[in-house]
Amino acid sequence: MGKRLLVVGGDAGGMSAAAQARRIEPDLEIVALERTRWTSYSACGIPYLAGGLLHRPDQLVARRPEEFRAARIDVRVEHEAVGLDIAARKAEVRSLAHGRSFTLGFDLLHLATGAVPSNAGLPGCDLPHVHAVQNLGDAVALLDFARRRRPSTAAVVGSGYVGLEMAEALRRRGLGVTVVESGPEVMGSLDPDVGARVSKAMRDLGIVVHTGVRAEEVTTGAVVTSAGEIPAELVVLGMGVRPDTALAVEAGARLGPTGGVATDRRQATSVEGVWAAGDCCESTHLVSGRPTYQPLGTVANKQGRVAGINIAGGYAAFAGVLGTAITRICDLEIGRTGLNRAEAEEAGFEAVDATVESTTAAGYLPEARPTALKMLAERGTGRILGVQSAGGPGSAKRVDVAAAAIAGGLSVEDLIGLDLGYAPPLSPLWDPLQLAARSLRGAV
Ligand SMILES: Cc1cc2nc3c(=O)[nH]c(=O)nc-3n(C[C@H](O)[C@H](O)[C@H](O)COP(=O)(O)OP(=O)(O)OC[C@H]3O[C@@H](n4cnc5c(N)ncnc54)[C@H](O)[C@@H]3O)c2cc1C
Repeated sequence: MGKRLLVVGGDAGGMSAAAQARRIEPDLEIVALERTRWTSYSACGIPYLAGGLLHRPDQLVARRPEEFRAARIDVRVEHEAVGLDIAARKAEVRSLAHGRSFTLGFDLLHLATGAVPSNAGLPGCDLPHVHAVQNLGDAVALLDFARRRRPSTAAVVGSGYVGLEMAEALRRRGLGVTVVESGPEVMGSLDPDVGARVSKAMRDLGIVVHTGVRAEEVTTGAVVTSAGEIPAELVVLGMGVRPDTALAVEAGARLGPTGGVATDRRQATSVEGVWAAGDCCESTHLVSGRPTYQPLGTVANKQGRVAGINIAGGYAAFAGVLGTAITRICDLEIGRTGLNRAEAEEAGFEAVDATVESTTAAGYLPEARPTALKMLAERGTGRILGVQSAGGPGSAKRVDVAAAAIAGGLSVEDLIGLDLGYAPPLSPLWDPLQLAARSLRGAV
């Protein structure tokens, strides 16, 4: 009789581990529990469902429960792990459809419980018109509310990229949308001067953006802020997420300084036979070398794959993260990788930076659009620390080259000499990355 692996969480971090383990170890019995009705769904696609580009939640599902079952992964949807007895290797499971509870034994445990949306203790968040968009169930609830109540005004509290993607989606559906952000600019993962470009793109689409304004309470029909009341028949929480570590704590797993589950490079937790991946975990930042919390689908899938290989007795290591993230808000593509200025200073780097204004294609072509690129490098060594970009088509994915350069430890001098491609419809002759490196050269 083979061992039983219990996976908690049926999305990226959980099912990529389950699928990988199954491929390597045919004798492993794999049971996966998922609280919602869906497995392996793209939460990243929720704003496009909300915006009406997609019409059914299942369009976001990459792999359905029956497909996993065909691969001998016993997925149980609408089943929640509600407790653990790690010494006895038993989980208490509740069937949400039938209201029954039962005990399930396991030999190995993989935790991929994801994250919970933050509401920062904002009073009124339990009102029925306040919605988070963390999973497909949340998205269905929001769409259902919008169909029944037909709100004409919405407020997004907080301005992480998820909140902003939702603001755009609701605006494109014709709602009057206001974003409330207490920080100096939207998208705190960017430097404020780059964030200001995002604010402008949102205002150009007719979204009201309040920065430096604190939401104090949600009431029926409004958000009360430090700058007065904002009408909002629908409120979306966009204040980011925190790792869901309840089960990990119950298992006795160590949490790191960011609050996420601490794992080694093989995604093993501090408890023998207990693994973890995805939004419930923290990672190591490749530039600062410090623990960091990066709740991203890219990270969850890679960590899940690594965990699955190791669970099945193989060897794989997760390399670490750069916080590489891209999005498109109101026709503005945005990308970031490495450290922003505040992060660089916090990590003890003496950073210099340069911002270049360029174009997405040769300037003489009609399709050329403005693009801005900001680069940070370490004074003295010239090592590239971080890049942020904002502009027309191609601007976001430009940070992928920067991510490769940073991961490789390249300096601005190295980047200037890099053999990057050029053709007039696709890029200016000097890539904006190389232009930024050139203007930083004298400063480092
Ligand atoms: C709206 C939105 C847009 C996003 N866009 C992007 C993007 O463009 N790019 C990007 O890289 N990332 C994006 N992300 C982030 C990305 O979706 C997450 O990082 C990724 O889904 C994390 O995967 P995970 O498996 O760790 O957690 P989750 O996807 O949250 O999955 C965890 C699962 O565990 C289940 N669960 C939790 N506890 C239990 C329990 N006790 N019992 C049973 N089941 C349980 C939950 O129901 C959930 O389905 C976005 C996220 C959202 C919400």
